[in-house]
Amino acid sequence: VTCLLGVRARWRTDSLGEFYCPGCGGDRNHRRQHGRRWFRLFGAPVLPLGGSISCVQCTACARRFPVEVLRAPTTARLGMLLRDAQYAIVIAVLGAGGTGSRAAREAACEAAREAGFEEYGEAQLLAALAALGGLERPGASEQEGRAAPLAGSDGSALQLRSALDPLTAHLAPQGLQRLLLVGARVALADGPYRPAERELLTAVGCSLRLTAEEIDSLLDAAAHTPHQN
Ligand SMILES: [Zn+2]
Repeated sequence: VTCLLGVRARWRTDSLGEFYCPGCGGDRNHRRQHGRRWFRLFGAPVLPLGGSISCVQCTACARRFPVEVLRAPTTARLGMLLRDAQYAIVIAVLGAGGTGSRAAREAACEAAREAGFEEYGEAQLLAALAALGGLERPGASEQEGRAAPLAGSDGSALQLRSALDPLTAHLAPQGLQRLLLVGARVALADGPYRPAERELLTAVGCSLRLTAEEIDSLLDAAAHTPHQN
């Protein structure tokens, strides 16, 4: 039955894409639409009301949402961001000290595999470190390593920030803390934190928007808890 009088929007689809639907709670396809409300008489639009409005419609549940929902990453993208962030932290921490230690390199490879890079091994690790310029000279003593902790710190810090920034707003506090602890584990694999490692982990914690107290207490707790595989 058509109502005599009514107000209903008329939508046009501008583009299609994927998004995380807050309505049905998962990665779905969406239509990005713009439209206008119309005053209707016997179902026919007779008078436009107000200006143009935009929305996003889920193709699965058909619900419409404000376009701001597109800012949230899809589950698939979030997983990728998380993987890349964990990997960037691992490489940066290793670059800050410990590239010469087998235990530290193994911990880094393990963390990379855990992040989602299956079959990640020593060869990939060395290539990644060389690309950052953070590789210690073969045979360099611990003392020398400490004097020049990270030749590629600039490139590393930049890569780190670009990997962490898009992620930070979308992770729960436990997720942020876990990322810092992954870094701490790599740093601690060859002994207590070097000053450069501690400094880098603190910078990681700040990028993850953790407070100074949280960072210190997480790093101290990690140092006093033996890691069990
Ligand atoms: Zn939906």
